[in-house]
Amino acid sequence: MKAKDRRLAELRSVIPEITPDEAQRRREQGAVLIDVREPDEVAQGSPQGALRIVRGFLELKVEDAVPDLDRPLLTLCAGGVRSLLAADNLLKLGYRDVTSVAGGFNAWKRASLPVETPHILNQQERERYGRHLSVPEVGEEGQTRLLESRVLLIGAGGLGSPAAYYLAAAGVGTLGLVDDDVVDRSNLQRQILHTDARVGKLKVDSAREALLALNPSLTIEAHPTRLTADNVESLFDGYDVIVDGTDNFPTRYLINDACVKLRLPNVHASVYRFEGQATVFWPSRPDQPGPCYRCLYPEPPPPEMAPSCAEAGVLGVLPGVMGLLQAVETIKLLLGIGRSLVGRLLQYDALEQRFTELQLERDPECGYCADGVEFPGYQEIVTSCRVPVGG
Ligand SMILES: [Zn+2]
Repeated sequence: MKAKDRRLAELRSVIPEITPDEAQRRREQGAVLIDVREPDEVAQGSPQGALRIVRGFLELKVEDAVPDLDRPLLTLCAGGVRSLLAADNLLKLGYRDVTSVAGGFNAWKRASLPVETPHILNQQERERYGRHLSVPEVGEEGQTRLLESRVLLIGAGGLGSPAAYYLAAAGVGTLGLVDDDVVDRSNLQRQILHTDARVGKLKVDSAREALLALNPSLTIEAHPTRLTADNVESLFDGYDVIVDGTDNFPTRYLINDACVKLRLPNVHASVYRFEGQATVFWPSRPDQPGPCYRCLYPEPPPPEMAPSCAEAGVLGVLPGVMGLLQAVETIKLLLGIGRSLVGRLLQYDALEQRFTELQLERDPECGYCADGVEFPGYQEIVTSCRVPVGG
């Protein structure tokens, strides 16, 4: 008997093996399935929702992913041999309940169990996102999730520019941009996606050029249109997060109402001269529901109360600060990490260089997001004045 065969026989005598069907049943009871195959094998398909750690990195990475040594682990490879070796490594690390899936992924497929084809980072992506890969809270899994995410930005202006720039840099795979405006020279004091040479061009086209120059592998979906009650739902369809970088009340209410109806998180910010505020409206958040925009402001202000567009202005760098806060919140939501701004309003005073935080409460009587309330439909909101100066 060869040494290799002797070793495998020895492992089989101590490590239990189960069928893929049994493995799937145990996962439903809380066991973690670890696919230990190489990236090129995983790229051809892997059990749906499996944790994927190449065997060579197993000892280095598994504790971050599964800190509880009592959690049952199931190892899987292509045919059931490497998974035995991996199971042995896990037992030596101190995991107490480790089982190998007999027949590996080949048997998994034969049993017609659910399979997915995960995005596997290529060499160029590994270089580009290397500093994310070193952060345990992001890592390969988080970066893959960002690449598969879809974020829609309303407004490619003062807030949308920095938000989109950093989301593109971070590798959010699909960015949608809604804006029907063209680049004006007066935008360039803050709207850093655009350039002097692109004055007169559609903002969404100018933005696409800038974002693809930074990160050519992204998908940029340009919507050179104004958001209306008629198109809002079809535009929002398929996106994971909506980033409100708009500059006027009617659109802000429309975004809120559609997000409430479609149960999407609405990453909100606004700016005025030296002051900004940011929060996340998400009343349908599963574990920690927060208010919607209408819980705070049930109705828009009358036109005479809204500050005059001509009088107001904004410090050019201010929407940069606030748009970046939106980008941070968006990435946290996509990765499911940290404490979001749901239920909190972050206020920023640039002159005082001070952040303050207000707790926001849900209005149990809110006509849009209260429990049991039926969506009342989209209202046409008429205020002629555009509040400065998201856009
Ligand atoms: Zn509400």
